[in-house]
Amino acid sequence: MSLAYVGLPCQLEGLRKTEVLSETLKQDWPGKVSLYVGLLCRENWAYTCFRALIEDDYSLKLDEVSKFDIKKRNIVAFKRDGGKLEFPLEESRPYVRAGCQVCLDFTGELSDISVGAVGSPMKWSTVIVRTEKGMELLKGAEKEGYVEVKPIEEVKPGTWLVKKLSKEKKEEALKEAEIRGDEGIKVSHISSLDKSVKELIKEAEGKGYDELEYEVIDGGLCSACGACVAVCPSGCLRIVDERPTLLEGCKPEECNACYLACPRVSLPLAELKSLIFNDGQSYEDGLGEFLGVYAARASDPKVLERGQDGGAVTALLSYALDKNIVSGVVSVREGEKPWMPVPAVSKNSEELLETSGTFYSYATTIPAVKGDKD
Ligand SMILES: Cc1cc2nc3c(=O)[nH]c(=O)nc-3n(C[C@H](O)[C@H](O)[C@H](O)COP(=O)(O)OP(=O)(O)OC[C@H]3O[C@@H](n4cnc5c(N)ncnc54)[C@H](O)[C@@H]3O)c2cc1C
Repeated sequence: MSLAYVGLPCQLEGLRKTEVLSETLKQDWPGKVSLYVGLLCRENWAYTCFRALIEDDYSLKLDEVSKFDIKKRNIVAFKRDGGKLEFPLEESRPYVRAGCQVCLDFTGELSDISVGAVGSPMKWSTVIVRTEKGMELLKGAEKEGYVEVKPIEEVKPGTWLVKKLSKEKKEEALKEAEIRGDEGIKVSHISSLDKSVKELIKEAEGKGYDELEYEVIDGGLCSACGACVAVCPSGCLRIVDERPTLLEGCKPEECNACYLACPRVSLPLAELKSLIFNDGQSYEDGLGEFLGVYAARASDPKVLERGQDGGAVTALLSYALDKNIVSGVVSVREGEKPWMPVPAVSKNSEELLETSGTFYSYATTIPAVKGDKD
């Protein structure tokens, strides 16, 4: 089985880290992912917080909303009755996940291809192609009529805005890490970016769930990516109420898999990048490594209509499924509550279409790569 994985920057970090550690952790499932699709992301909200923001603070029921969007630093909720609620993004700050406040990555720098809204006009997506695999996907989908593509230079506003928002996110995260550091709280993933995987394996010796809970989960770093849950050999770790929770004692007792895999305990970014990208590949601060940046939109009106922006993610991955480049796509769909994202594994383009659009809250999807529900 060969999977495409659609994820936020923090999820890509978790999945790439489990991939590089798969031999040490004796887990082969990360190797199922052959295509990493990143989503640009400034911040995210836990579902309970997002619900409270919209329903309690703004008295709008989530099931009355047909689409959420973030435009010009406002959150916009389009209502099914044609009306809309719009308020400054700033008002959501108290609800933003604590882990997002120390995330350095806006553009999903560990992807094969990243997609966002910023940089392109309405109903177009900005596509940052980083690897040959990503380029083959975009060019193949264009040739087969799945997407319409333009060089980013031909549209407005273009990459300067992506770079500006990237810079802002990074500066804010570094400042927050400094504040936490002054209060004696470790933000260890930021200090590990140049460390080797070998060093990190050594540093994680003798540490396990208790340290993960203290340093990351209670320490306000966790992104709920679920790498820890997926690598737990005994299945005793689960996401409960949006946090990794030990349901019974670790088996074996000295197991340190969850601590080792967590991308917020440590992130060997330089080594991960050296494994993904070719030497001398173009790099720009705020974009990351790239081969090209484009504006793209789905050619199929159904995909364009349902897509959050240009529907590029769904169109590109429909092509990948139709042409058997991958046999499944891990992303999200709506769960049992309105606007609650849950993991989805789509096996064909009809199923994939149901997963399009943006859910502005968190779903733990790495365990779905392994084949677990959470
Ligand atoms: C929490 C969040 C914050 C974002 N912030 C920004 C931002 O600041 N700037 C920016 O330019 N873009 C941001 N994006 C990306 C943007 O909203 C679109 O997802 C992106 O432009 C792709 O649009 P599309 O029309 O090409 O994708 P579509 O064809 O609509 O496909 C979207 C894909 O994303 C998946 N998806 C939706 N919600 C989630 C989720 N919560 N977790 C994981 N996968 C999900 C869907 O299942 C689908 O596969 C954010 C996305 C999310 C989920």
